[in-house]
Amino acid sequence: MYINGEWLTGRSELSVTNPATGEIIGQVPNCTDQDIEAAIAAADCAFKEWKKTTAYYRSQLLYRAWELMIRQKRELAELMTLEQGKPLKASLNEVQYGADFLLWFAEEAKRVYGQSIPSARENQRFLVQKSPVGVVGAITPWNYPISMITRKLAPALAAGCTVILKPAESTPLCAKAMIEIFAEAGFPAGVVNMLTVRDPARVGDAFCTDPRIRKLTFTGSTPVGKKLNALAAANMKRVSMELGGHAPAIVFPDADPVHAAKGLSLVKFLNTGQACISPNRIFVHEDHLKPFITELTSRAGRLVAGNGMSEGVGIGPLINEQAIEKVDSQVQDAIAQGAKLETGGQRLTENGLSNGYFYAPTVLSGVTPAMKIYREETFGPVAPVITYRSEGDVIAMANDTEFGLAAYIYSNNMTTAMRAFEALDFGIIGINDINPTSAAAPFGGMKNSGLGREGAQEGIEEYLETKLGGFAI
Ligand code: NAD
Repeated sequence: MYINGEWLTGRSELSVTNPATGEIIGQVPNCTDQDIEAAIAAADCAFKEWKKTTAYYRSQLLYRAWELMIRQKRELAELMTLEQGKPLKASLNEVQYGADFLLWFAEEAKRVYGQSIPSARENQRFLVQKSPVGVVGAITPWNYPISMITRKLAPALAAGCTVILKPAESTPLCAKAMIEIFAEAGFPAGVVNMLTVRDPARVGDAFCTDPRIRKLTFTGSTPVGKKLNALAAANMKRVSMELGGHAPAIVFPDADPVHAAKGLSLVKFLNTGQACISPNRIFVHEDHLKPFITELTSRAGRLVAGNGMSEGVGIGPLINEQAIEKVDSQVQDAIAQGAKLETGGQRLTENGLSNGYFYAPTVLSGVTPAMKIYREETFGPVAPVITYRSEGDVIAMANDTEFGLAAYIYSNNMTTAMRAFEALDFGIIGINDINPTSAAAPFGGMKNSGLGREGAQEGIEEYLETKLGGFAI
């Protein structure tokens, strides 16, 4: 734990496990109620001075943190692979993506503009100024254990807020490494704090109810997000909610099915399918079904599962036993209801994988709306393929979900792509593009996928209040 510029140990500890081997790789403290109080008090006290610092100063510290992250890219990536499981190349990409937020918001800090508004009265002037929201409670998930931290902390700090981070129980070591970077960059005591905890509700409840905390920013599952949002609303707190997704991917008749299968296999199996923007319902026009399935199945079958530190490994483990059980129950339910298993469909235990949480890259065809996998977020290496006949049908099916985070379209016809882009109720749409994300672009969802946006110009607005001055002159 890191409170008021000091590293603290606790009376009891939490173990951290490598999901590829089952080995315990570290311990972190389990915070007490006194630690929660100390962190809130430290962030509240530090805010009084931090909010008065210049944007140029805050920018400089963020820039320094960015430099440190880039310098330590390999060490951070290795730690991420050890703790979270993704192949080293994917970890290196995530560290770079995470660092991008520090650089972007180091620059945006200096572009928080106000407004001067004309009045109808001759002797009146209106001035609008932006000010930091206050102390921020930030809760992050394990699937992107570094970039989800910088995506929140960089804009909050740039805006002049102080922060208490509560990382996921499975990946606190990556969070600790990031806090070490903020400390080394020179952020003053109390500006950045971190609490680790076995029962996250204890910290979550404090974030939502303590009057000193003015904003909750959360990335995680929809059920937890809804619970926290309700509690935060009762206490009139600002919230940002980045929640679950169930992305549709549509392969239109004018697309190249082999090219689409190549792209969708890359994004589907990225991070072993444990991504909120992972394509979870792949709608393929009936004319393209055969070549699409052949290519997707062949690519899934060729992926080598294993320890992400080993050369040639294309897919890492799932995060834990419950994740394996959830994925397998969705696959077995689909098969029982008539889906065809094209490849995969089982836990992997051969070739030294028995102590980890490995599941075979899986392709299912003939998936229908009655199956669990059609409705529930998957969060695993399973590509469910659904056949469709008309554009009207597929848009209705794609939108028929409680989620609204990401969607993908494959089409070589500009008007088809534009019609689909406008008709889909999702916050992020990749059009012949499997990576529609960047620190410069707004990231976030509609419906039960959340509230607010991260990254881009919008990202810093989430941490700003609007203050109006009416001047009689
Ligand atoms: P989760 O909701 O179980 O946990 C996320 C975080 O919330 C963790 O830090 C956890 O400790 C904490 N948490 C859990 N219960 C809590 C409670 N009662 N009070 C306070 N905090 C609590 O989700 P997860 O399984 O760790 O993460 C996967 C989910 O996150 C998926 O649904 C995924 O789609 C979503 N996600 C969304 C985005 C996005 O940007 N929209 C990005 C990554 C992940």
